[in-house]
Amino acid sequence: MEIKKGISVSPGIYIGKALIIDSEDYRIPRRSIAASRRMSEIQRVRSTFKAAAKELTGLESGQDVIKHRELKDIFAVHVRFLRDKSLQKNITDFIYSESVTAEYAVSKTLRDIASHFSRVKDPYISERAADIYDIEHRLLRKLLGGKREDVRHLKQEVVIIARELSPTQTAGFNKKYVKGIASDAGGRTSHAAIVARSLGIPAVVALEDLTEVVGGGDTVIIDGNRGLVIVEPDERTINQYEEYSQEFVELKHRFGAVKEEPAVTRDGTKISMLGNIEFPEEAKVVLEKGGEGIGLYRTEFLYLNRETEPSEQEHYEAYSETVSAFKNRPVIIRTVDLGADKHTQSKRFAPEPNPFLGLRSIRFCLQNIDIFKIQLHAILRASVLGDVKIMLPLVTDIQELMQAKMILRDIMEDLDEESIEYDRDIELGIMIETPSAALTGATLARDVDFFSIGTNDLTQYTLAVDRGNELVASLYSAVNPAVLRLIRTIIQDAHKAKIDLSVCGEMASDPESIMLLLGMGVRVISLAAPMIPEIKQIVRSVTIEDCNKVARKVLAMSSERQITNFLRDVTRKILPEVF
Ligand code: PEP
Ligand code: MG
Repeated sequence: MEIKKGISVSPGIYIGKALIIDSEDYRIPRRSIAASRRMSEIQRVRSTFKAAAKELTGLESGQDVIKHRELKDIFAVHVRFLRDKSLQKNITDFIYSESVTAEYAVSKTLRDIASHFSRVKDPYISERAADIYDIEHRLLRKLLGGKREDVRHLKQEVVIIARELSPTQTAGFNKKYVKGIASDAGGRTSHAAIVARSLGIPAVVALEDLTEVVGGGDTVIIDGNRGLVIVEPDERTINQYEEYSQEFVELKHRFGAVKEEPAVTRDGTKISMLGNIEFPEEAKVVLEKGGEGIGLYRTEFLYLNRETEPSEQEHYEAYSETVSAFKNRPVIIRTVDLGADKHTQSKRFAPEPNPFLGLRSIRFCLQNIDIFKIQLHAILRASVLGDVKIMLPLVTDIQELMQAKMILRDIMEDLDEESIEYDRDIELGIMIETPSAALTGATLARDVDFFSIGTNDLTQYTLAVDRGNELVASLYSAVNPAVLRLIRTIIQDAHKAKIDLSVCGEMASDPESIMLLLGMGVRVISLAAPMIPEIKQIVRSVTIEDCNKVARKVLAMSSERQITNFLRDVTRKILPEVF
């Protein structure tokens, strides 16, 4: 039994079998094996080399390929490589001396050769590195065989274990079978974590080397409440966790009971609780959990998990499904936040040196105006169906806002010409998620109807800490005094300008931060649907006066540690059952 500690990103407990999914480039973690298993691993390597060479010989003489002389030559070189006895010997010696799996020995040996080739100055030789990677993939596909299940076609419940998960991969998980998620990489607000939370799947990230200790089919416990993953637990631990799991279900049930109750503090202040969604289907979950509208619809997810870019009609259908679910309650549609870790079909293979500081969000839209226009056209068309608002992500300066508004006006004119109805007074807001926007809030507020604070990015950019990098996860905190000062400034500027203000970053779904936000003057929050009942329970248990006191104390504190401990103590008193 081994216990690994990471960061809990989505609550819940699940005990089940591990399914390892490799990153797209098949990075294989080092796994040790018992000495008695070495010979069978060596045998697997030999038969895999033989099978791969046979497969390639078939391709080499295949009808379609034979016409292409160059391909034929390449396959011939690959076959010679696969029949090279000294290469196989290096791999099998490695398995014998280091007691590692066949997969790891093959991957490590071939990658070392490839990286050696790629460092050679002569381009003819350095380009051969790609051939070596190709051979490595062929061998790994065979070695992993049945163990490498396609997550899209699962037939039984599993816990997904991965080195790193992209938002696209996570968005494709079937909730019916994926019952837990754990990854070596990631942070509390990485997009894969956000999707797990929205789907209500217990998840733990930043486990650093989990993939090195867990094998496909191992029993694991995902404890999304305490941020733990327990590999091959003993019977006593399993029994204990079965009890925890039961208690957690009962607790959720109790929180669920507040669904019909209003989100009002004990002294009568109404707090609007909206939901964050990635897909239109989630709108009904927000309703079920007692959400009063959508405060953040992350529309870029329309682009993930598919081969072609969505058409205007597909945008429209997604928005009308969401808006219809909420009748005349607000639905804030955020224009696509593509770039960084979320890409369109056509841009997926163009990596940038610093993607989170690169062409993302509104910058991407302003440089890809066709994509932006298609979306605005669809949002405006859907605007007649309910209370739709438009929100622009990652605005850093007034110029971007002006450009975006000009494009919106152009689309309105197009719709007029096409005689298509839309809401002429549609509200336009921006996310405040960069220090530059926070510091120029007074100016930006003159040209918008509302602000929504994106604490996930605001924290990342204020503290210069990558929100998805587990190596610096301990430095990432939305209650760092620097972030809190910016949040206070944003709230004050919105109040002075008399525009609406909400918080839609993950801070709004953190039980320990909610009193602080209310005390700082926030009255509208938007959060992951599964967290709504628990946060509502806190709202209903406090008075605004209590919250003001908490905020005053926190804002006078100078260290993040002190603030975190204080907020934990305060919340523990209100909601002891969560701790
Ligand atoms: C944020 O940055 O806080 C936010 C809500 O946007 P996202 O998490 O999608 O970047
Ligand atoms: Mg953001």
